[in-house]
Amino acid sequence: MMYVHYCKRCSRIHMLNGHKMYCPKCEQPLTELRIPYMEYVSMDREERELFRRDCQNETVLEQLSAHYRMYKYSKWYKKLQEANRTAQSDAVTFCMAEASAPHGASTP
Ligand SMILES: [Zn+2]
Repeated sequence: MMYVHYCKRCSRIHMLNGHKMYCPKCEQPLTELRIPYMEYVSMDREERELFRRDCQNETVLEQLSAHYRMYKYSKWYKKLQEANRTAQSDAVTFCMAEASAPHGASTP
């Protein structure tokens, strides 16, 4: 699958195979665009030039970028981290309770 990416540094649209994070030319972080590859390909030269100019505008680029994918990923990642943290803090709480309780007093 081909995806449309934009490199701020090169001010260029890159059509790359797969979700790429870095520009193949300058190795700076890329912005993946929401526009489907086929849609971009069907544009004529003038439309592409306009599209590229739109990308040079930070605000427009923000709207054109495929943030939803990263959001999904980060949500999943956060959840995972949260689960890890909860597991850890539970262990800590347990240890503290054990340490602070006088021996035998809290055992039912
Ligand atoms: Zn670049």
